[in-house]
Amino acid sequence: MHEMSIAMSIIDIACKEALKDGAASISSIELEVGKLAGIMVDSLKFCYDSVCKGTLAENSKLVVNELPGFAKCLDCSTQFEVDSFMALCPQCESYAIEVYQGRELRLKAISVNE
Ligand SMILES: [Zn+2]
Repeated sequence: MHEMSIAMSIIDIACKEALKDGAASISSIELEVGKLAGIMVDSLKFCYDSVCKGTLAENSKLVVNELPGFAKCLDCSTQFEVDSFMALCPQCESYAIEVYQGRELRLKAISVNE
């Protein structure tokens, strides 16, 4: 499962960071996930809860900030919110758009217990 491997790599990175800081455990991990990243947030949280068992992140909280998708029209430069890559410009109805936000999967912050 896609979300399972994402959860595993997030926890892997966070645990390495926490170890480097000499932390006793991780209390929460904050993520930024774009709406167009193709990630099911509920599924990711579910996987996270099972993957974190037995690691420094056990019983920690996964906080997900969802970022909306944004695109820019290459013909008229209008910027607008999109919920798919196949959107068209609301101003000139061009399909020549560039999605510049919404694909993110970013580990934003790790909170640890000293
Ligand atoms: Zn346009």
